[in-house]
Amino acid sequence: MNTEETNSFQAVDEGFTMIEAIAEAKKCLQCKVPQCRKGCPIENDIPDFIHALSMGNMGDAMRIINEKSNLPAICGRVCPHEKQCQGHCVMNKKGTPIQIGKIEQFIADFDTAMNLTREKLPQKDRGKIAVIGSGPAGLTVAGDLARQGFNVTIFEGQDEPGGVLMYGIPEYRLPKKVVRAEIQKIEALGVNFECNVLVGENSVNVDSLFHQGYDAIFMGTGTSVPQNMDSTPGAKLRGVSQSTYFLHNVNSYNEGAIGRDMVPLRDGEKVGVIGGGNVAMDAARTAIRLGADVTVLYRRTQEEMPAIKAEYEQAVSEGVKFKWNTSVTEFIAGENRRLAACRLSTPEGELVERFDRVFLAIGSRPANRIVSTTEGIEVDEKGYVKVVERPYGMTTRRGVFAGGDVVHRPQTVVLAMKAAKDVAQGMAQYVDAIKLLEAAKKVEEQHITDK
Ligand code: SF4
Repeated sequence: MNTEETNSFQAVDEGFTMIEAIAEAKKCLQCKVPQCRKGCPIENDIPDFIHALSMGNMGDAMRIINEKSNLPAICGRVCPHEKQCQGHCVMNKKGTPIQIGKIEQFIADFDTAMNLTREKLPQKDRGKIAVIGSGPAGLTVAGDLARQGFNVTIFEGQDEPGGVLMYGIPEYRLPKKVVRAEIQKIEALGVNFECNVLVGENSVNVDSLFHQGYDAIFMGTGTSVPQNMDSTPGAKLRGVSQSTYFLHNVNSYNEGAIGRDMVPLRDGEKVGVIGGGNVAMDAARTAIRLGADVTVLYRRTQEEMPAIKAEYEQAVSEGVKFKWNTSVTEFIAGENRRLAACRLSTPEGELVERFDRVFLAIGSRPANRIVSTTEGIEVDEKGYVKVVERPYGMTTRRGVFAGGDVVHRPQTVVLAMKAAKDVAQGMAQYVDAIKLLEAAKKVEEQHITDK
């Protein structure tokens, strides 16, 4: 990567200094009924950790966060704070809400830098858990259950854990060193990681994991199959590709794992990004950093766009253009079956616009690798896994649980964590129950033998 590109991928917001963080913490009113907490999907004890920070008590601040979150350095950076904790802070009335995300990020980063955390960990004798996928949901289940005395192993198909955190979200929004540090903390809880293992392929599948003695299995496999536009003429032209593929390759390039020629974008190209969600914003902002002229094409209005507002505003400030109520009705070929232009349906009528390249960001759905190799896991018509309420998060196959995007459709990192936390409780109750039954059966068998 050249120096200009390196700079452009540096984190947009470097975060607070210690003086700034404590000064911000001291502004908190310590509300008796804290609205910020109500706005946080995982009900972080926000006023408590802010208070600990305001006293300079960093260890306490981190301990309070750890009670609710396994990924605070990540949430502090990528959560939609304006809608959640910060959006609910009473100081919004004065236009100066406490910057909760930046405070959380500061505490977690300080803890990492100083290696502060010293958690007392229980014996891992409560049961054996396999977690498939190491994105936000998988890491949350693994962290929560390891803290509760379960022996947890995560199986990851890529060569490094992190899922969407590592391969989807761009470096300028979430530096990979932050993701690695959070994963190391989860490893320090005693969680085992097995990378380059695609469960559902070769010899490893759900049945073989049960045979290996796992008491319960968690599917946190997300939505890895991007939606295509194959019914639109020209969708197979060279130059039309998936945003997720582009982002994956840019992240690998930033890491030095692949060369620049593997990144599907040349300097100065005119790029269209189709979609209006966070993946579209990530692709657009990444493409502009690589020297492209970028326009987002979204089929609905600005108000209906699902992307985080701050992401949209930053994209605009970085020079990304937006066309609302605009759909692509045809990808038009130039030489060598390469994309040359798009036919657009716009509020002003149909028009043809030149594009060198288009990235699709129109959603994704779950892969069926596990479901198709396992009997008894039911999915809905779109491939999302069906789960039950008791034990919470169990699929229609006994002992197999699921949570996060593979159940609830693509959501934010923190909502996947929230769902996973609830499923972790369901799994703990399930494993405790089967262990109790096993123990009762043994006693009964002993009784019969003694007679
Ligand atoms: Fe502090 Fe705002 Fe939460 Fe009140 S709502 S406790 S002021 S962060």
